[in-house]
Amino acid sequence: MVDVPTLTTELFLDGAWSPGGAGTFTTLNPATGEPLAQIAAANEADVDRAVQVATTALRGDWAAVPPSQKGALLHRLADLVERDAQTLATLESLDMGVPLGFATAMFVPNLVASLRYYAGWADKINGELVATDGYFGAPTHAYTRREPVGVIAAIVPWNAPLMILGWKLAPALVSGNTVIIKPAEDASLSILHLGKLIAEAGFPAGTVQVLPGIGAMTGEALAVHPGVQKVSFTGSTEVGRRILRNSAGNFKRTTLELGGKSPQIVFADADLESVIKGAAMGVFFNQGEVCAAGTRILVHRTIIDDVLEGLRGAAEAQVVGDPFAPETTMGPLVNRAQRDRVLGYIERGRGEGATLVTGGTALDRKGFFVTPTVFRGTNDLTIAREEIFGPVGTVIPFDDDAEAIALANDNDYALAATVWTRDLARAHTVSAALHAGAIGVNGWSPLAPQLPWGGNKASGIGRELGYEGILANTETKTVTVVL
Ligand code: NAD
Repeated sequence: MVDVPTLTTELFLDGAWSPGGAGTFTTLNPATGEPLAQIAAANEADVDRAVQVATTALRGDWAAVPPSQKGALLHRLADLVERDAQTLATLESLDMGVPLGFATAMFVPNLVASLRYYAGWADKINGELVATDGYFGAPTHAYTRREPVGVIAAIVPWNAPLMILGWKLAPALVSGNTVIIKPAEDASLSILHLGKLIAEAGFPAGTVQVLPGIGAMTGEALAVHPGVQKVSFTGSTEVGRRILRNSAGNFKRTTLELGGKSPQIVFADADLESVIKGAAMGVFFNQGEVCAAGTRILVHRTIIDDVLEGLRGAAEAQVVGDPFAPETTMGPLVNRAQRDRVLGYIERGRGEGATLVTGGTALDRKGFFVTPTVFRGTNDLTIAREEIFGPVGTVIPFDDDAEAIALANDNDYALAATVWTRDLARAHTVSAALHAGAIGVNGWSPLAPQLPWGGNKASGIGRELGYEGILANTETKTVTVVL
């Protein structure tokens, strides 16, 4: 039995908790399909009020906090996240189905790492002194300042809410912005608990607000609002496109991270043991509900049988079940629609002639479980072209490096890629030739707050994390003094 923590379900608006103007919506426990909580839903009036409050804090109380104190507040929040790590991980597992061990070992620590990394930046966001040729014969003293963008809407998906929120929240705050968080309908609970920690840490009211609600209402209202200067969004390509259109009214800055169909290229010289481990993680980690999931496994034809056998073994060794059982390595998919969508893709794969190597079924039990699935197929199949967001990988043969690169780049998405090889020169030349925002060599999707993260093409625009995270959350102002 899970010890269910106290659930926080209201809006965190102007430093206080309040019901939502749009009533409530239900979030389900994906492991049972049963209701877990009723969550307050923000309407347009709530969004409007939150934007006013965030604007006041932006120019007032948050602006008045000195840079090093901003960093100290982020460290304080990180301390509180560490104190409540078990609660936060439990909420995330309950709400979206990730095995508790993964939420504990990865998602919560990743949030802490982002907060601490950007806490260190707080008093190091400098402009630069710029030499010029002068002004009509007079010398100049010219410099740039990095200033906050303004009120930022952080629109978060359900697949790793705390981790992905950390990538948006931490750089936004140390850059002096105020933030309105819109969690996903299917997984608001961990972020709402974080709202309590934000209050406890002592951020001035309005610096961070949490507005749960329906995407088409709360998210939409934030994206169109003239008082919001930036939207930082992670989620589907379709909604990303809509946010970009909705942002046009007042030329909002946008950072859009829209998922992918990432290739993992396995060359014949690769260390097979690492390949199987890493490629399987790339397909099955977090039930495959990962934007960077490495679901197109391109394998040199001479070793394809070994890789298929290895992946079959790795898939069949996954323990699918209760996210709170210590032996579980794969929990349920987030909701019924997602499960049905994944099963639909599996049917489509079969229908289009892919060979099912293992998996391909729903578990005959309550909840939204799908077995780890491996196909052998080709790059033109729907299952190799579209983002499935479930535990489904397709193994595709290639004959030489040029074909591997061409296949890898032949997709609308360009978020991440993995290159498995022991040949150093090949690792670098292939990495340079791939269309992707982030490439792992001999490791699937290494993530660290120091490393910029984001994609190209249909995977979106802009970068989060690293120094790029600071650039994405600040505007440059040039000041020229004629001496
Ligand atoms: P989604 O894009 O619909 O939702 C993501 C967030 O956007 C949620 O908070 C949602 O409430 C909000 N939103 C929805 N409509 C909005 C609108 N009109 N304006 C502003 N915000 C809005 O994603 P989903 O329905 O949760 O998942 C659908 C698919 O998206 C998945 O199957 C998967 O392919 C993809 N996805 C990708 C990622 C990723 O990490 N890139 C994460 C989650 C989902």
